[in-house]
Amino acid sequence: MGLDRYMALCLAHPQHGYYRKQDPLGMSGDFVTAPEISQIFGELIGLWVAQCWIDQGRPAPFALVETGPGRGTLMADALRATRAVPGFHDGMQLNLVETSPVLRGRQKETLRDYDVTWRDRFDETPDLPLLLVANEFFDALPIRQFERAGDGWRERLVAIVDEKLDLQSGPLRPEPHLSIRGDDLPEGGLIETSEISETIAAEIGEQLRARGGAALIIDYGYDATMRSRAGGVDTIQAMRDHNFVNPFDDPGEADLTAHVDFDALASAANVRKHGIVDQGAFLLGLGAAQRAEALAKTHPDQAHDVKGALHRLTDASEMGTLFKAMALTADPAPPPAAFPA
Ligand code: SAH
Repeated sequence: MGLDRYMALCLAHPQHGYYRKQDPLGMSGDFVTAPEISQIFGELIGLWVAQCWIDQGRPAPFALVETGPGRGTLMADALRATRAVPGFHDGMQLNLVETSPVLRGRQKETLRDYDVTWRDRFDETPDLPLLLVANEFFDALPIRQFERAGDGWRERLVAIVDEKLDLQSGPLRPEPHLSIRGDDLPEGGLIETSEISETIAAEIGEQLRARGGAALIIDYGYDATMRSRAGGVDTIQAMRDHNFVNPFDDPGEADLTAHVDFDALASAANVRKHGIVDQGAFLLGLGAAQRAEALAKTHPDQAHDVKGALHRLTDASEMGTLFKAMALTADPAPPPAAFPA
């Protein structure tokens, strides 16, 4: 089977799927995400969103949408930070796109003070000006891998090799749609595609063009330059208990992800692309250091932890450059905060 079907089964199978069974986040889970590290992350993203909304003339009503909201921590911090923005909460229709029943339960608790509508898919969200946040969402969506072979491509398929699951090259096919992206790849070079990611990005772009707004996408990933510089990409990875494990051992028991092809998302969305910028630069541009200082002053007992969290979110040795931010807007929206014009 294709890697996309394998990932979809491992992550979302109704009975055995990784995200259907458990809450994988936090220190007791398999991995930690930025909003779980510090409230600063969600607060600054909340203010970024509110600034976009103000710059676009405070449209009301509007849809505030988060795809893959995890424990709801980012949204709770964003909403607390935007309470003082006149009209923002009154105009917003809060929509969370989440497929995991376990995480929906967590979100319900975290966001119990708010009026939330849950959706299974992005295209079920209301037809309104859109402000969208997606942190570590696209990396969880299934990908396919193709290997350059002469004028054609071989898909890498999940098969049983020596009684174990592993990748094996499929038959040679032309796959003309890949040539635009993979033209400069050497023989044997790999390319990754995510049909579902591009479909969702296209739906987001359509909504931005029709109704206005902005989308903020943060994840680990690459752009077109990085894609070809590396001579191809092979980014499928599995995490369990804060360690990398083999993605083909114990299907459904580890978090499976792939790096995000930001340029593929931007082309599918077909709107104006801002970035990509490093997460560290993005957060510092929004005032992360000043916010950390203020927090440390109000809670001197936590000053050390706050400093450590800021370092983790922004430093190049931690999440600062591995993670990237990209924003999407449709003309004539002004450029969003913290993205160089
Ligand atoms: N944004 C959160 C969680 C990241 S984990 C954070 O930063 O902490 C990935 C999230 O995406 C989880 O909430 C998972 O349940 C959700 N998810 C995975 N596949 C999905 C899909 N196809 N549709 C909607 N949500 C999905």
